Order: sequence, then C-alpha cells, then structure tokens
Amino acid sequence: MRFDDRVAIVTGAGRGLGRSHALALATRGARIVVNDLGGALAGGGGDPGPAQAVADEIAAAGGEAVANADSVATPEGAEAIVTAALERFGRVDIIINNAGNLDPGGLPGVTAEAIQRHVDVHVLGAFNVTRAAWPHLVDRGYGRIVITSSVGLFGSAHLVGYSTAKGAAVSLGRSLAEAGAPHGITVNQLVPSAETRMVTDPEFRANCNLPPLPPGTRPDPARGPEFVSPMVVLLAHESCPVNGETMTAGIGRFARVFWAETRGLVAPGLEPEDILARWGEVVDEEGYGVPATTAEGVAFRESLLAPQAAER
Ligand code: NAD
Repeated sequence: MRFDDRVAIVTGAGRGLGRSHALALATRGARIVVNDLGGALAGGGGDPGPAQAVADEIAAAGGEAVANADSVATPEGAEAIVTAALERFGRVDIIINNAGNLDPGGLPGVTAEAIQRHVDVHVLGAFNVTRAAWPHLVDRGYGRIVITSSVGLFGSAHLVGYSTAKGAAVSLGRSLAEAGAPHGITVNQLVPSAETRMVTDPEFRANCNLPPLPPGTRPDPARGPEFVSPMVVLLAHESCPVNGETMTAGIGRFARVFWAETRGLVAPGLEPEDILARWGEVVDEEGYGVPATTAEGVAFRESLLAPQAAER
C-alpha cells in the first residue's frame, strides 16, 4: 500500500503510537504534518521538541514532514494544524486523530473539570481537526480519518474522565462516518494496545485495577506501537474496507469492537416482575443486531415490533 501524493496529519505524533503511525505512513510515501503539543501525560505543558524530532527523523529517512506544536483541543489550534498542511503541501487526505491525555481518577475525587480536560483532547480535539479539514476533504471528494478510542470505552471506575471521552470518541466517529460516506470520506475508530508511557507505569496499573504486565523489560519490543500502525495504515489507505467501524490492534492481534442490541423481549404491558421473570429473553444474544447508524438502530427495533403490530 503506497501513499505517494497523499498528505497526512498525525496528531500527538511526537511520541508513542502517533510517532509510529507517522513513520509508517511516511515510509510508504505520505507527506506528514507531525503535530504534538509536547505535553505531560495528564495534559498541559508544551514543548515543540518531540514533534520536531519526529519530523527530523522522517526527513533523515528520505521522507517529507513538517512539525507543528499546536493543541488539538482548541478550534484555533486545529485550524493552525490544517493550515500547516495546506501551506506546506497544498492538500490534506488523511487525518490520524491520536493525541491523548490521561489523568486517572474516579469517584469521589474526580471532578467535572477533570472529565472536561479529557473530552477537550480526545473528543473535541478529533472534532476540531476533522472539522477544520472537512470542507477541503468534501471539495476533493476524498478523505481517510481515524479517531483513537481505547479499551477504556468499556468503562473504568478508576479512569472516569478518560473512559467517558473514549466512549464519546466512538459515537463522534460513527456520526462523522455517516456524514462522510457520500463524499468519499471514511471515518473509523482505533482501539490500540501498546507499551507507551501511558500504560507501563506499574503503580498506575495497580491503581486502575489493570492486570500487571508480564515480567520482562519495559517497554517490551513485542508490545511496541509498531504492532498497531499496520491497522492505521490500512484504515488510512484508499483500499480501506470499512466506514464507521471500531478496529482494535496491538501485540500481534487485530479485531473488531462493536455495539450490539439484543432482539429482546417483545411483550407489551409487562409489569416489572414479569420482565424480571423473563430476563433471559431480554438479554439473549442470539440474533442480535449491529446497527451502523441511528437510522439503522431505529429500523432494527421497528423490524422486531412489526410482526406484533401486524397481529393487532
Ligand atoms: P503518549 O502519551 O506517548 O502520546 C500521546 C501524545 O499526545 C503525547 O506526545 C502528547 O504530547 C500528545 N498530546 C496530548 N495532548 C495534546 C493536544 N492537546 N494537542 C496535541 N498533542 C497532544 O501516549 P500513547 O500511548 O502513544 O497514546 C496515543 C493515543 O492512543 C492516545 O489517544 C491514547 O489515549 C490512545 N491509547 C493508547 C493505548 C496504549 O496502549 N498505549 C491504549 C488505548 C488508547
């Protein structure tokens, strides 16, 4: 898969997964905007060094890249990132929304502000950059967008802000996917798994009730970000086979994450006691639906209610 003539913005690309995605795309011919605020893990701070170092690394390997240290968390920062791509390379084809912060916390200590700081980067950050590039992508009838979620989307008592944002990032991506389809734009979500500064700290893992990593040197080369990037490259390529999907990748495994709805129990007029008595039918996973959009979700429900309506 080649990316000659393609231009990619990779956010949070000064370290970890973003750096790996940027290098993988550059190796295959893409010109890259290496964005990274150069922040602390919890967010904040600022250092143009990491983005510049990765841009230099790409150039040293014979590729083309420009560094940018604006924050994705503001519309102005996002505009500046997209402008950097247009000014330097004249186009944008691919956006890998990867920038992320993590500040553990759960009730009773976690605050609304702490949740907001995660939403600002993971959700609004992806939205801001995508929105800034959207008219350009629509005009050209082409785009490949990836939004980075996390296994945190399943929920965590210890990572309330992070999990909330990573769940919202999925529905953001699915909504943009439906909007992009008529314009040749795909938007997919990524659930990565790799040993970066974000996940290796043993104290962090213990506090978050995460299983300890297997014994050995950290980071383990067999659990590096480069085992995630092939999925990102595929989702960023013109041959990307999916839209609105959530794909997981890491440590040599590739899989799909999806939201489903059971067929459920169709029986109007039940009392709560009756529902409890037939709980097995409510949650039975046989024949579940996997709606891609709100409209498909509504249609799935209507299809299950239809036989009963016909009887009335
Ligand atoms: P990392 O901390 O090494 O890299 C994240 C980068 O994002 C940092 O370099 C940071 O400076 C940058 N960043 C933070 N806020 C920014 C902002 N407002 N604007 C621009 N850049 C900003 O962590 P990582 O593990 O490489 O994480 C990359 C992405 O993958 C994140 O979205 C993270 O939540 C997600 N993720 C990682 C894992 C994993 O196993 N490492 C698992 C699930 C999800």
